[in-house]
Amino acid sequence: MSEGKGQHILIIEDEESISSFVKMYLEREGYAVSVAPTGAQALEVLKEKVDLVTLDLMLPDMDGLDICRSVRATSNVPIIMLTARDEDIDKIVGLEVGADDYLTKPFNARELVARIKSILRRAAAPVSNSRKLECDHIKIDAARRECLVDGEQVMLAPKEFDLIWELLERNGEVLNREHLLEKVWGYTYAGDTRTVDVHVRQLRKKLGDACPIVTVWGSGYKVGTEVRAA
Ligand code: CA
Repeated sequence: MSEGKGQHILIIEDEESISSFVKMYLEREGYAVSVAPTGAQALEVLKEKVDLVTLDLMLPDMDGLDICRSVRATSNVPIIMLTARDEDIDKIVGLEVGADDYLTKPFNARELVARIKSILRRAAAPVSNSRKLECDHIKIDAARRECLVDGEQVMLAPKEFDLIWELLERNGEVLNREHLLEKVWGYTYAGDTRTVDVHVRQLRKKLGDACPIVTVWGSGYKVGTEVRAA
């Protein structure tokens, strides 16, 4: 399943071999993609709604850092800088110019897609979710999308994170599979509820004995321990 759902990504890149490859890759993920080979064209496209920008540092007409600054002056659109290995990445890393992330060339398209998804997910998280919850050995941070077991980070897939967050947030309430499907996967119909079971199983595997999720036979799932704000 593609996650892109028509979100609009602007690739600012003068090397056609790179832009066409990235464009193809992102379109396959369900994104709508525009390519701008110059800074001037990029600023033109940015008058439309753009959800994320990948920005090559070396462009024929404008310096990538200048483009980044001028975009930042008017917009919060996430920016991923693409830079050749030898270039001075300190400025970007220091976020002096307001980029959200960077990759050095040559980069792996899969890695770029992973970064894009992660940034767009964070951008989509509502501010009201900027909270932390904990129970027994687990601490989760909605803003950072981080799950710690006894202080050690455990990598959760996005849906696994959303699932455990929903269960913790409802603090012991029994939630049926249809509810969880709708909350976490956004289905508004009763879809395949085994999806929920598979993800709960994954969570139990990853969190081990610390996993607070309890199966309530015939009903659904709940958290079997007290949840506190962290
Ligand atoms: Ca270039």
